[in-house]
Amino acid sequence: MTSDERVLIAGAGPVGLAAAANLVRNGVPVTVFEAGTDLSTESRASTFHPPTLDMLDTLGAAKPLIAQGLPAPKFQYRTLRHGILAQFDFSAIADATAHPYRLQCEQSRLTRILYEQLRTQPGFELQFNSSVERVSQNDSGVTVTTKRNGNTETRTGRFLVGADGARSDVRRSLGIDFDGFTWPDRFLVVSTPFDFYREIEGLAPVSYVADPQRWRFLLQIPGLWRVMFPVAENESDELALTPDFAQSLMATIVPGITNYEIAHTTLYKVHQRVAKTMRLGNAFLVGDAAHINNPLGGMGMNGGIHDAMNVTARLADVWHGRASEAELDLYDRERRLVTLEYIDQQTIQNKRNLESDGVAFKTHLDSIAADPQRTRDYLMRVSMITSLKRAKELGTAPA
Ligand SMILES: Cc1cc2nc3c(=O)[nH]c(=O)nc-3n(C[C@H](O)[C@H](O)[C@H](O)COP(=O)(O)OP(=O)(O)OC[C@H]3O[C@@H](n4cnc5c(N)ncnc54)[C@H](O)[C@@H]3O)c2cc1C
Repeated sequence: MTSDERVLIAGAGPVGLAAAANLVRNGVPVTVFEAGTDLSTESRASTFHPPTLDMLDTLGAAKPLIAQGLPAPKFQYRTLRHGILAQFDFSAIADATAHPYRLQCEQSRLTRILYEQLRTQPGFELQFNSSVERVSQNDSGVTVTTKRNGNTETRTGRFLVGADGARSDVRRSLGIDFDGFTWPDRFLVVSTPFDFYREIEGLAPVSYVADPQRWRFLLQIPGLWRVMFPVAENESDELALTPDFAQSLMATIVPGITNYEIAHTTLYKVHQRVAKTMRLGNAFLVGDAAHINNPLGGMGMNGGIHDAMNVTARLADVWHGRASEAELDLYDRERRLVTLEYIDQQTIQNKRNLESDGVAFKTHLDSIAADPQRTRDYLMRVSMITSLKRAKELGTAPA
């Protein structure tokens, strides 16, 4: 086999490895280039939505992931002043998914599971310490230039999947714009082993708390709670990363409780950006390389895995001669429009809702909770099932 007879993938994050797993499962050989010396263990996504779990099941990864995570059928909204505004339960959409819950589990668990399953498969190759620096294309395929252990190397493949994250070198090398904006505030995530169930009555494992200045969400993962707070534009990064700053925010959660045991503190800049196109010739952008959004609602990695499953199903069909290359355009049409119409808009709305005083938000939530059909529509939307249905419609509608 020559190196041309492969799909190249830049990046071994959750999206790149999901893409690799779906290609290998469909008999398409892949080479993954990962800039790091190992898989990332950074604490970022920790919510897997129902349809993503359904997809991971087809890769054989859902069961081991669920075994390491925390299924959370219920989530709730609160305000600092009014307590619980509304609570929703995914069992209301149990007929639409085999996994009627959010799974709370860190993304690094998924990458490890996928890598361990893939590493012994024929047709799978992963090079650590290999950073993709440049991409060029001709009619027969794609050439990438990588820096591997300090040496410059080139590899050719029939297709390239750019899953190399928000600062994507693939996107930059292809000259694809990444339009959008950066929020002025940043988000601070503080994790603690503290048992909030003991102190906050009726708390759900996923709880969003609205407030114009001091909104936050509390999210349980195995062994820890992660709490996310906004950090105002005028606070410096240096200050926001001090232990005192984290403790001062944590002290606002339960009156009288201070001095938390803190496991991690991470400060993030937050953006809303979508690539101008997600396909250029034989190169495709997926995941954060194609779109980034604020993490409220947990849609970035989930949407990225949906991209990966969409594009790799099409690539496998083209590879095996079951579809023409024109079919590949539908990837950009479906996933990019859904990202703009749905993921980008929903996450912006989620931020606005949390920043509200809760009065109008409560009226809105009450009207949803009072009507079983609206509750169902709402759960289909926040679980991202609606976005996948919309993507299917876009793929069948005339361009
Ligand atoms: C605080 C926070 C919480 C979040 N929570 C959620 C959540 O609950 N649910 C959700 O869906 N999303 C969430 N997200 C977003 C989620 O983390 C990302 O969408 C997700 O990591 C994207 O996966 P990816 O594989 O596309 O990119 P990444 O995870 O960034 O992986 C990219 C990989 O490519 C490698 N790489 C980079 N450049 C190169 C190169 N030139 N060559 C080769 N390799 C390269 C990197 O080393 C990395 O391993 C959250 C984000 C943050 C910051």
